[in-house]
Parts: sequence; C-alpha cells; structure tokens
Amino acid sequence: MTQMKCACHGLVNFSSHSPNTLRRSLLKAAITVPAITSATTWAASHDPDTVFINGKITTLDAAHSTATAIAVKQGRITQLGDDATIRKLVGPNTRIVDFKGKRVVPGFIDAHCHPMETIYMQNDWVDARYPEVPTVNAALERIQAWANKTEAGKWIFVACVSASQNKFLEKRLPNRGELDRAAPNNPVVLANGTHMAVANSMALKMLGVTKGISKLKHGGSALLDATGEPTGVLTDVQADVPTTPTVEEMRDYYSTGIQKLWNQYGFTSVLAITPSAALPVMQHVAQHAKPPTLRYTVSVWTSSNAHDMPEDLSGFEMPIGTNPDFYRFGGIKDWVDGENDCRTGYMYEAYIGHAETDPPGNKGTLVTPQTDIDRVVRIAAKQKKFSMLHCSGDRAMDMGLTAIEKLMYSNKGNTLARIEHFGMFQMKASQLERARKLKPRGLHISIQPTWLLELVKADFENMPAAVAKTGFQFRKMIDAGLEPAAGTDMTGIYMGNINPFTAMYASVTRNSDRGVFQPEQAVSVTEALSMWTIWAARSIGESKLKGSLEIGKYADMVVLSDDIFVISQDKIKDLTVASTIVNGEVVYS
Ligand SMILES: [Zn+2]
Repeated sequence: MTQMKCACHGLVNFSSHSPNTLRRSLLKAAITVPAITSATTWAASHDPDTVFINGKITTLDAAHSTATAIAVKQGRITQLGDDATIRKLVGPNTRIVDFKGKRVVPGFIDAHCHPMETIYMQNDWVDARYPEVPTVNAALERIQAWANKTEAGKWIFVACVSASQNKFLEKRLPNRGELDRAAPNNPVVLANGTHMAVANSMALKMLGVTKGISKLKHGGSALLDATGEPTGVLTDVQADVPTTPTVEEMRDYYSTGIQKLWNQYGFTSVLAITPSAALPVMQHVAQHAKPPTLRYTVSVWTSSNAHDMPEDLSGFEMPIGTNPDFYRFGGIKDWVDGENDCRTGYMYEAYIGHAETDPPGNKGTLVTPQTDIDRVVRIAAKQKKFSMLHCSGDRAMDMGLTAIEKLMYSNKGNTLARIEHFGMFQMKASQLERARKLKPRGLHISIQPTWLLELVKADFENMPAAVAKTGFQFRKMIDAGLEPAAGTDMTGIYMGNINPFTAMYASVTRNSDRGVFQPEQAVSVTEALSMWTIWAARSIGESKLKGSLEIGKYADMVVLSDDIFVISQDKIKDLTVASTIVNGEVVYS
C-alpha cells in the first residue's frame, strides 16, 4: 500500500550524469598515487585514515580469505592482512580501532526493501497487525479510536498483515460494513499486505469504484458481488490509493531517521524501491543533504502495472552534485502479479479460497500483461539499468522468465534483470532450469528468507500441499548457481522482518512457523551470509564496490556480537550488531 501518483510525467528534470563513470573515476582517484609535493606530505597522504585490527575478518572474496586487520583511506579498503602487516602502515594521523577479537563480516545489503513505506507505517497508519491485534473486533476498535481523533473526510490507512485472515481468531478480515460503522466519516483502506485491501464505502466512492466497476485507474482491481456491487475488497491498489507523504517526512526518510533503523541491523546498503511520485524529493535530498550513513540504490516504480513507465529513464537519475557513493539510480520495478499470501499471486492451480474475499475458483491476479512485462525489461536494458519483476505465483514466474529470455537470448551484451520473490511460494523444476540457463547472461533472483518464519503455515492453508511444499527451496537455487540475493521486503508485508539474523537462522536451520520445513534445503552459514552481502551486491550490479572486503571496495563492515561460525545454529537468531561501519566510520555501536 503506497503511493497514488503515477507521476513519471512531470518529474523534476534534473540534468543527469552517469553514476558509473563518476564512480569509476572516484575509485581510480582513491587508489591512484597523488602528485608528490614533498616527502612529508606524500607520506601523510598515503597513511591510512584508519586501521582496524584484532578482528576475525571474513572477507567473502572469491578465495574465501580471512584477515585480522584492514586499512582504510577515504572510505575505501586499501589493504587487508594480519595485525603486524597492517600496523606497519600506521602514520602519525592514522586512527587505530580494535575489533577486540570479534567476528567481522562485510556490511549487509538489503536487496529488496521499501524504506518510504516504512516511514508511513511508523507515523501515519493505524497499526492492526497480528499478533498484537488478534481479532477482527480488536482491529475495528483501533480503527474507531483513530477515526474519533481524525477530522472528517481525511483518509485512514490501516496496516493489517498478509494472510492475517488466517491468523485473526475469526479467520477473516474486517469487511466493508464493519469499516463503515467504525469510521463513518472517513475513507478507510485496510491493507492486508501490499496486494489485498478492504475499503469502506466512502473510500470506494473516492476511488471511483461504484456498481459494475471492477478496474481502478492505476492497475488495481475491485471485487464485485453477484449483483455487481463492490464488496470492498481491492487487490493491487498500491498505485491507486492516495498515501502521500509530506516533504518533511521524506526528508527525514532520506537524511536521518530511517537509515538508523537499517544501520542497527548491520545494513550498510539498501535497494530502496521507490514510487516515482516520491523520487523528486529524494533527488533533492540526495543533492543537498550531508552524506547519509546508508548507501541507497534506488529502484523506481510508477503504477503497479508499469503501463506508464517512461521509455526514457533519465529523469530518474540522481542530479549533479549527488555523491554517487551514497545515491544511485539502479533500476525499475514492475508487479507481474499479486502475492500468494493473500491469494492474489497468479497461479496455474486454484487457491484454497476464502468466500468473503476471493472470487470463485480464484487463481490470483495478473497485474501486468506479457507485452508490458517485455517492455519494462527492454526499457531497463536499453539504458543499462536492471529490471525487477515481482513474480509471486508460478504462472507469473513463467511470464517473467519469458520476458527475460526474450531479452537475453536476443541481446549479445550482458545485462542485469531480476525476478523478485523467486520460488518463495512455489517453484517448478522447469522454472529452476530456465533460471539456471539465464544466470550467466545476467539473471539475478531476490528472496525473502524471513518468510520461512511467517508464511509457510499460510502457504499450506492457501494452496494445495503439493504446491506449497515446493516453496523456499534455497539449497536447490544455490546448487543451480543462482546466488539468491536476500531482502527484508521491509515493509512490503511486515513491519518486523528487518532482522537479517533471524532470516539467516531460518535459512540455516529451516525452522519455520510450521516446524522444521524441508530440512534438506538448508544452507551453510557462509551461504546465508553471502545472500546478504556478495550475492546481494551482484544482484544490483555493484559487486565491484560492495559485498566483500577487498582492496578498492567500500570499507563497509559489520562487527557481530558473537561468532556466527562458532555458536550453535539455534543461537544465530540471537545475534546482534556490535557495530556497523560505513565508509570506514562507525555509524552504529
Ligand atoms: Zn517488496
């Protein structure tokens, strides 16, 4: 549930530069010997700014090297080695930081998240999420209390939880009539995750949904009853519902508040999926605010079906004056379908339905037709950006793979295209095989391992068991060479799924909300770390700069509270961050 304006048109037209070129020249500058003016200044200019010593450093480079010390200059790693070697580099102005024998790994990269929606949910949403809100009645009480202090006519947004109609005591969502009674003078939209919502009568009216109208302007759909009357259930209305942030909120999002949330969980970079309507504010902040403590690679979406994605993406570039080490426009996103947890992922087989929200024989929703999927992939590749195709259901996954095959089998150059939520809810052997063949040509996949702890039970309630048991097959994906990139999807569905350690714990132990699930799909600790670091970096085309600790790369690191390679697997979920280091500076401790 996010943004209303499909405002790719009328975006602020900042003149753009090529971040890649800029980044390359900066990288070069960082490792090139500067002009010598005198022996003293030369020596001083070559001293590291900081050396970090006495660590157990897992570099995750190709050789899986380890080290105990790292030298850093101007935010980049200039040397790795043992303490004695690195200490020799110390000059009069070098700062020495002691890792105190702790395990150090590359900074985490969140390869799929929604920071702006996180801001909304923190500030402007009625929180009716399970388990704190366990029943429909409790949710309605919260909505009523919010409505009582809200001026008439103002929109009210309610955060529910995907699959929560399975979780609420009543096994259903609040309905249109109940929302009318709880908030008679306000338009209300209750979001069951991103892909399903229930609206009250005033909201339906304001969205233009009346008798017989089942399609909304920006890709959403309305469920009608037998008489053609809208039931209040809406699907994929993330671009239709007007949740507009204030400029102040956006500033906070990009400059101070929100990055601290990611930093405290060890994140040093995010792929921030951003609505085009919000992009001008980000561009403005990127140009004018001081460097943040989190590196933002931005992926832009317009409407949910990408029908209004412009052919020319240059308006999405970060403006001149932006520090390309911290802000980069990387790609564009399209939703091929809904999502299986609320039974709108586009499937070959019918879901096990809920009569009050689902059409009979429901097989989910196709949001973007094949020709438009093909178009998104083509537009991105033409401009050397990556495309992100959200594919939840198996039928949508085949369509996404088809679009990428069309591009990659006709295109000589290597190009990067991604499938989001690959194989999370289900995966066919044929799809794994198609992806395996595309990987060397530039296919990357994003996965959300935390969902093992949240959605396996719902999968078995929503889908036939034979389908549900094919979800989350991380071992198979890795063995096929797919290098899955992990993302929190904060806050595509949940608010509380930002912790990468619980995700690693689930990936390694296969613990789920339905007990141990498919234990043969377990991954190693190194693989679990790679999902959040080097594979994530590759999935956004930035592995030359991020994802492992190597000379020339950003000095972005996480110091762990305990040694992830030594503690029992069960304890991985209890790990915390001792400190997060971005650009050679401690930004969280
Ligand atoms: Zn998402």
